[in-house]
Amino acid sequence: MSSSEPVREEPRSVARVVSASVTREGGGFLVHRPFPTAGLGEFDPFLLLDEMGPVEYRPGEAVGAPDHPHRGFETVTYLLEGAMQHRDSRGHEGKLRPGDVQWMTAGSGVIHSEMPDPAFIQSGGMAHGFQLWVNLPRKDKMIRPRYQEIPSEKIPVAQSPDGKVTVRVIAGESLGRKAVIETRTPIFFLHFRLMPGGHVSQTIPKEFNVFSYTISGEGLFGTEEASATDHQMVLFDNDGHTIRFSQTGPSPLSVLLIGGIPLNEPVVRYGPFVMNTEQEIRQAIDDYRNGRMGTIRS
Ligand code: MN
Repeated sequence: MSSSEPVREEPRSVARVVSASVTREGGGFLVHRPFPTAGLGEFDPFLLLDEMGPVEYRPGEAVGAPDHPHRGFETVTYLLEGAMQHRDSRGHEGKLRPGDVQWMTAGSGVIHSEMPDPAFIQSGGMAHGFQLWVNLPRKDKMIRPRYQEIPSEKIPVAQSPDGKVTVRVIAGESLGRKAVIETRTPIFFLHFRLMPGGHVSQTIPKEFNVFSYTISGEGLFGTEEASATDHQMVLFDNDGHTIRFSQTGPSPLSVLLIGGIPLNEPVVRYGPFVMNTEQEIRQAIDDYRNGRMGTIRS
């Protein structure tokens, strides 16, 4: 993490650099999506990463994702700018402000809406954030839905001794700080900010699949020092215990580093349902159509 940490061997190399595709989601909001795409279906245990925006809305323009179901996995929403409002079929309601995290374990199923906050729709402004889909292991796919909503000020933050690196520890641990969020399988979700000259050496077990996603600035990643800038994902090989990267260029580097143990189970996905078999998908569709995931009371 910094020059004062012990030097660890086995830094990982880079398997691929993937540029996000641009698409529209929900009610028509812009997303940068590194996966799934035709070239990269999933990255076990991760099913999807969407960068929402960044987009500047004029008053009255902001859109979101109206009522839709999920079953069989988790959605992790991390807001950087803007304001979101969440409601679901179990009567749960919450708001997300910049820096807040909502870790939703959909499990057996929820129907929810993810919309801009009404006051934000009225005022307009910059909207920017992330949603990551984390697959659940077979034994957890039908568990009770659970929310972990962590306001920005409760997210542990650590700084390197040289002051050039700060990290927000959303899941896992970094620089001696542990996340407050509990995950079903071991996951790292770290948001690093590197000032000019900053470098990171993050220990992550070899069996974890790990990727980075650059939010802004430019970084050099892995043993090859592969360059990646905004909207670019770097997939690391599973050939070491250490992820290394450094800031380069004139601007600070803002980057997500995300990793998890692969589940190595069959993945059958149909839109918002991700199960292990076709039969379980048919059941999910049937349960949804017959109101067994509930409805949102307006
Ligand atoms: Mn959703």
